[in-house]
Amino acid sequence: MRPGILLTVSICIFGSFATAQTPPPENDPIKSLVARLDLAKYKATIRGLTKFGDRRQGTDRNRAAIDWIEAQLKSYGCSNTERIHYDYQPPARGGRGRGAATGDGAAAGDAAAGGASDGAGGGGRGGAGEAGRAGRGGFARAGGRIRGERGPTAANNDPDLQPDSRIRELDSQPSTPGPREEVFCTKIGTTHPEEMYIVGAHMDGIGYGEAANDDGSGTALVMEVARVLSSPDVTTERTVRFALWNNEETGLNGARAYVDQRKDLQLKEDPPGSGRYPEPKWLGMIQHDMLLFDHGMPLKDGAVSDHQRPEADVNIEFQSNSKFATGAAELAWAFLAANEQYATDYPAVVGNHMTNTDSGPFQDLTPSISLRELERVSQIGGGWDPTHHQPTDVFSHFSEGDFRLGLNATQTTLGAIARLAGAKLK
Ligand SMILES: [Zn+2]
Repeated sequence: MRPGILLTVSICIFGSFATAQTPPPENDPIKSLVARLDLAKYKATIRGLTKFGDRRQGTDRNRAAIDWIEAQLKSYGCSNTERIHYDYQPPARGGRGRGAATGDGAAAGDAAAGGASDGAGGGGRGGAGEAGRAGRGGFARAGGRIRGERGPTAANNDPDLQPDSRIRELDSQPSTPGPREEVFCTKIGTTHPEEMYIVGAHMDGIGYGEAANDDGSGTALVMEVARVLSSPDVTTERTVRFALWNNEETGLNGARAYVDQRKDLQLKEDPPGSGRYPEPKWLGMIQHDMLLFDHGMPLKDGAVSDHQRPEADVNIEFQSNSKFATGAAELAWAFLAANEQYATDYPAVVGNHMTNTDSGPFQDLTPSISLRELERVSQIGGGWDPTHHQPTDVFSHFSEGDFRLGLNATQTTLGAIARLAGAKLK
């Protein structure tokens, strides 16, 4: 690894975003690409994912969802799909589930991520414990401070709390330990196939709903960006990979498996002289996790408004304690600039406390950011999203304004990635 060199390259690339001469709107191919997104398609993709219930890892509904995602990617023209294979064994009952979370020394965010996973497997710990630890300073290293009123944050682990009998039945098969898979597809760069951005979201969920928001909204975003960039009349100079991680909710195990299996393959041409790079050099990793709901802070009684707040925004976060913090911040600013240029309704803001999501395992290897509806620690950690890991995380719970926030995040990422990867229209 030569982080110094990577960092310099990264800064040059990201730096060019903000300072590049903005073409007149009618001549900007990226504007035409972003116009290929729309609310109906984004909602339809989330709807498609919710047909598989909460897509809990280690179940038939999770495996069926992976097959469906792969078929969709192929139908978009992202036909070179591949799968990562790994094994998942949950931590022993009563254990704290931290072992897996600290395995690769990926620093700050990971301990918190391990904490988040406790609730999923360990029977009702988790969310509440997470907020409690944050209140006592448990998030000091990852940063982020919860202020003001709070709502409950414990993950639901009781299938009977799902009031809709159809969804209750859909989510009824329990998870079993064992082999796991996750799917990705790749848009290969025309002039720099050996350099790559990774655009990701996690396709598994918990809470006995439909995981419509967490993380159907992020998964649909990645699939929509893949759809637009895979169109036969679009080229990109650099490679872009679309990854739908599994096992996020148990401690980022799917993203960790990818990093463990592939980080050392970067830049290896295979076969030699072929111009093919099974694992191009990572220029950045962009994770998408929960993008629909920004209804403001809970009131004194812990209740949250039923309406998307008019000043809702997309929260772009990087981790200031990561090895690639400087490059990650530059990447975040590039996404902010793309939001200003291409997102139709909602602005974005940048924060420095990225944590508890699949970009964590990447953050000390490449500039990494996450996009969310809210800041992970200071807002979601304070109970601002009452659907988080709950039976209420179902498609029908969300309004047009909610879905529109997710669409604006999609416009942001498509605009930024198209610019960074050098997208052109034939
Ligand atoms: Zn999530």
